[in-house]
Amino acid sequence: MAILNIRQLGDEVLTKKCKPVRLITPRIIQLVDDMFETMYETGGVGLAAPQVGILKRIVVIDCTPEPEPGEEPKEEDSLRFAMINPVIKETEGEQTGYEGCLSYAGMSGVVTRPEKVTVEFTGLDGDIYTLTGEGLLARAICHECDHLDGIMYTQKVIGEVITNEELDRRIEEARTRQDKDQEQ
Ligand SMILES: [Zn+2]
Repeated sequence: MAILNIRQLGDEVLTKKCKPVRLITPRIIQLVDDMFETMYETGGVGLAAPQVGILKRIVVIDCTPEPEPGEEPKEEDSLRFAMINPVIKETEGEQTGYEGCLSYAGMSGVVTRPEKVTVEFTGLDGDIYTLTGEGLLARAICHECDHLDGIMYTQKVIGEVITNEELDRRIEEARTRQDKDQEQ
């Protein structure tokens, strides 16, 4: 396993359309392993191959919720996926919220995405899977699939892209305002 270098906004590799994977070779499996390790190391919930400089249609996602305090993580709660050649087949509804990207470290912006997404992909075992995800998982699927077509979320941002410190400040401000409203 290895931690890979994550390309940052401005790197041309992030603007390219990726090629489908024809055969799942040991090299592809190694790449997926390294992508997971890199994603966990940097605290992301998704990573696409072009972000590590590989122009292939591969994404890894892990939106598994934290287990309740004192509880062991359960297999059935796992939202960890390696997707080869993912294709979004269906979308439903809308969600608007802050989004970030490991290729634009420390920044966030508001993006509208579908609330629910159905994606078809090849697993590492070569089988075809269909997955329907909601909320954060739907957002992650859309964000990562965009990377495979050379699209960064910054192209879809409503308003400005802000630093995560500024985002924390705004969340705190909104919370204080809400507390005040409740007092009145
Ligand atoms: Zn990203």
